[in-house]
Amino acid sequence: MNSLWMLLLPVAAASGWLASIRHRKRSVTFASDYYLGLRHLFNEEPDKAIDVFIDLLSVDKETIDTHLALGTLFRNRGEVNRAIRIHDNLVARSELSKKQRLYALFELAHDYMHAGVLDRAEELFLEVLNLDNKSAGANKALMTIYEQQKDWHKAIKFAKKLPKLQRRSMTAAIANYYCELGDPEAALEIDKNCVRASILLGNKQVQCGQYKNAIFSYKNILSQDADFIAEIIDSLAICYANLRNEKAFDKYLYECLKKAPRISILIAISENIRKTEGDFAAIDFMTEQLSRCPSLHGLLYITELYVNNSDITTRKRLQSLLDTMHILLRAKPAYRCSRCGFSAKTLYWHCPSCREWNSLKPIYGLDGN
Ligand SMILES: [Zn+2]
Repeated sequence: MNSLWMLLLPVAAASGWLASIRHRKRSVTFASDYYLGLRHLFNEEPDKAIDVFIDLLSVDKETIDTHLALGTLFRNRGEVNRAIRIHDNLVARSELSKKQRLYALFELAHDYMHAGVLDRAEELFLEVLNLDNKSAGANKALMTIYEQQKDWHKAIKFAKKLPKLQRRSMTAAIANYYCELGDPEAALEIDKNCVRASILLGNKQVQCGQYKNAIFSYKNILSQDADFIAEIIDSLAICYANLRNEKAFDKYLYECLKKAPRISILIAISENIRKTEGDFAAIDFMTEQLSRCPSLHGLLYITELYVNNSDITTRKRLQSLLDTMHILLRAKPAYRCSRCGFSAKTLYWHCPSCREWNSLKPIYGLDGN
């Protein structure tokens, strides 16, 4: 209730100010309505009080800014219906200047967007653009609306206009829109460092049996963003296995290890060693690596190999240890947003929390990838 009083004070003050003006004009009706509003306020009927004060605050050149401020205030408080009522009332007025009409329309569109009525918000933002086609805010809002509606072609159209209007690169967003459309080639034309597009292109080529092309696409990721190299290790292994060229795969893994020493690369190398030289050679390799780069996933890998090579009694004893390690690691997130800190077990290209593209990255370190 206190917060409502805080909200109503400026409304009452503005109405009071107007009341004093109107008083000079002998407006009896206004004064009685004003006191009616106050009575609602004192009777702890804030909803009725707000409505009376809004009605009292007639729209003229002197009060337009107050109406706009009130509308924004209500929307920020989550009272979108009241914000819509105020802004709707404003845009219907003929006395508004072009600049004021634009502002009111823009605010009204935001109200509907806030309320989740996206088709009405879209209409209003398009109306804003009809009056001012250089409105970065309207372009950006329309891009966001089409993004939410997964209308990627329209999202691309408006995102492409934005860099000229707000000097902010939109390449990451546009490339991801093309990825959503299943067109990684177009995504890479827009953003040659789009990891998602390289993965998508590689996957498409694997589906067509074009393993050499797929390897080329996946390998781009090392220069695009080495943090994501772990994401394509398994796919690369499939490509090289189909080409019966495991040696080349092994060589590439060591190249990756130099640039991005990650546990997933060490495990892939250890697996190659295990296939050719046996379990204990893999254990020796991983043990030596872990002394330089401690990792719970590496420890789990070694423990599993020891369990596989133990007698039945020891295996049973070690199994509970293995189960605990699995539980511990499964509870850990694998990706974190570099912008807002949101963490997840699966990779999102669009952060569900801060709505930024390409901001989630694999987590590395003791219990990371
Ligand atoms: Zn985020």
